[in-house]
Amino acid sequence: MTELTMLGTGNAAVTRCYNTCFTIRNGQQVLLVDAGGGNGILARLEQAGVSLSDIHDIFLTHTHTDHIFGVVWVVRMIAQAMNSGKYSGELHLFGHDEGLAALESICRLTLPGKVCKHLHDDILLHALADGEGFSVAGMRAQAFDIGSTKAKQYGFCLQLPDGRRLTCLGDEPYNERAGQYAIGADWLLCEAFCLYADRERFKPYEKHHSTALDAGRLAAGLNVSNLLLYHTEDKTLSTRRSAYSAEAAEHFRGAIHVPDDMERIIL
Ligand SMILES: [Zn+2]
Repeated sequence: MTELTMLGTGNAAVTRCYNTCFTIRNGQQVLLVDAGGGNGILARLEQAGVSLSDIHDIFLTHTHTDHIFGVVWVVRMIAQAMNSGKYSGELHLFGHDEGLAALESICRLTLPGKVCKHLHDDILLHALADGEGFSVAGMRAQAFDIGSTKAKQYGFCLQLPDGRRLTCLGDEPYNERAGQYAIGADWLLCEAFCLYADRERFKPYEKHHSTALDAGRLAAGLNVSNLLLYHTEDKTLSTRRSAYSAEAAEHFRGAIHVPDDMERIIL
């Protein structure tokens, strides 16, 4: 069974939920994708019942604060667990060259030597090329450049154990260069900053983000089966699921998922 747990569903500045990050569990193997903006990732993993010793693969999409700083904390805790004999094997960090270089710099600036000595030893940094394949949590994946106009960002396409395909578009609007990975995907993970109806209030387009309506139109055009929306504002959480789903459904006839933090979804 493959299970996705949304550890956080919010955008960078949220205070009422956690920043967007998630795990994908394949049996005992866990892939962590981004880790939010700090130490809060540790509580989220604990609540989700994910032991640090089960995390051997982390994918970092980009260097923005709401994605990278939680990874520093996970690296710190896993290195300490290695030192005390409570973590066996290696930790593999995947991403693009700029993201991993930034992560390494932050780790070296902020973590003690007994943690950093693991970098490039049993904490391995894999800088992937655009389109390069890799293996995580017992599954094959392909990283791709989403064509961000801000910081360089990678999404990925994951081959689930039953052969279906999950594509994560990161936290920016769709760029056509992701088409080969996104068209016909069984699962499409896509940002929706707010409702189109709330665009004057939250200004998604000025922030280079999109809306639930845009995501629904995109999912219909790409002919995907399941659409999952994340990286949202946090001022409408109590109505978010129903309102975002309704907007996306104006264009998209497939299954729409607007999870809350800590929600588990069987893939
Ligand atoms: Zn973000």
